[in-house]
Amino acid sequence: MKHLFSRSWLLVALLSAMSGVVIAQEGRPEKNPREQYFIFWGYPENYIENQARMAFSTIDEMLQANPPQKEMTLNRQMALVGLDLLLHDQRNDKAEPFYTFINRRMQRMLDDMAKPVKKGLKIYKLYNDGFVIKSKDATVAVDLIPGGPGKHPFITDSIIYAIAGNCDAMFVSHKHGDHANLKIAKAFAARGKKVIVPKDLWVGVDPLIQQLLVADTSVTIPFDELKMTLHILPGHQDDIYNNIYVMEFKGSGKVAHTGDQYNVEDLRWIDNVHRKHKIDVLLLNCWVNSMERTIRGFGPKVLITGHENELEHSIDHREAYWMTMKKMESMPSLKVPNVLMTWGEWYEYK
Ligand SMILES: [Zn+2]
Ligand SMILES: [Zn+2]
Repeated sequence: MKHLFSRSWLLVALLSAMSGVVIAQEGRPEKNPREQYFIFWGYPENYIENQARMAFSTIDEMLQANPPQKEMTLNRQMALVGLDLLLHDQRNDKAEPFYTFINRRMQRMLDDMAKPVKKGLKIYKLYNDGFVIKSKDATVAVDLIPGGPGKHPFITDSIIYAIAGNCDAMFVSHKHGDHANLKIAKAFAARGKKVIVPKDLWVGVDPLIQQLLVADTSVTIPFDELKMTLHILPGHQDDIYNNIYVMEFKGSGKVAHTGDQYNVEDLRWIDNVHRKHKIDVLLLNCWVNSMERTIRGFGPKVLITGHENELEHSIDHREAYWMTMKKMESMPSLKVPNVLMTWGEWYEYK
């Protein structure tokens, strides 16, 4: 008897699963099938997925209506905090609504990259600490990665390789997988484009993948073909080599990218970077060991933080947008505007 009961229970469960949400509302009026589509009783995971789809798509629209700027509007703040909520709820990790959201935004960015830049610089923010900087003469990528697991990357192959194809060179700050991706580096090299990496990364892989060979000394590499000069400052994440790239686009501006800079001793020379370089835009990892001192050291006209919401980290170290907002609020005497951006957005610096 017990056996029979468990069999019939199994049959009910199977039928329920096969017929979706409708069975779950047994006993409720179910006259209109269009309304039934939005009833999730008994299916909490299905509810969460549908809620995330709605929230991601609303946030996408809200961000487009409130693009990045020096002053944060309340609407934009709400959209970014909404993203923090979604991206700190592990039920949304690697789920379809997230993939749709990020790829839609990346495709939009890719479409925009086709437009020429006439003056100044256009700075695109990609996943994690990835940026593309475009001047009238050159388009360069820093720490370009698809994100996520190798078998199911966050940004689809077709989009990430199209973005790479639109860039003239790539600079990789350090060896960690959330900044360095060998497949993408090889794609650059295969098209005859240079990839600059720290001294201990991908040695001997391809002559166009070039290591910084001088330890603990700044180096300058002319990129005449791109009308730019690359200065490499010898940064570290703890004891790992972390190249800080100062990209000088002739006649357009100077941008620094700090990778995963996190080292107390380096702060001594970071204090003086502004004496040598007039930095227009600083792309700074939002959890650098001393945010205020690093910003003062570089002395940029505009700050754009990176590395928020890295989903490969546990939620306590995903670094929410609201945390960056609060940190910046706590340093009003800095007077450096932070153009807080998310994936697939861009800012024109003129
Ligand atoms: Zn790192
Ligand atoms: Zn990192």
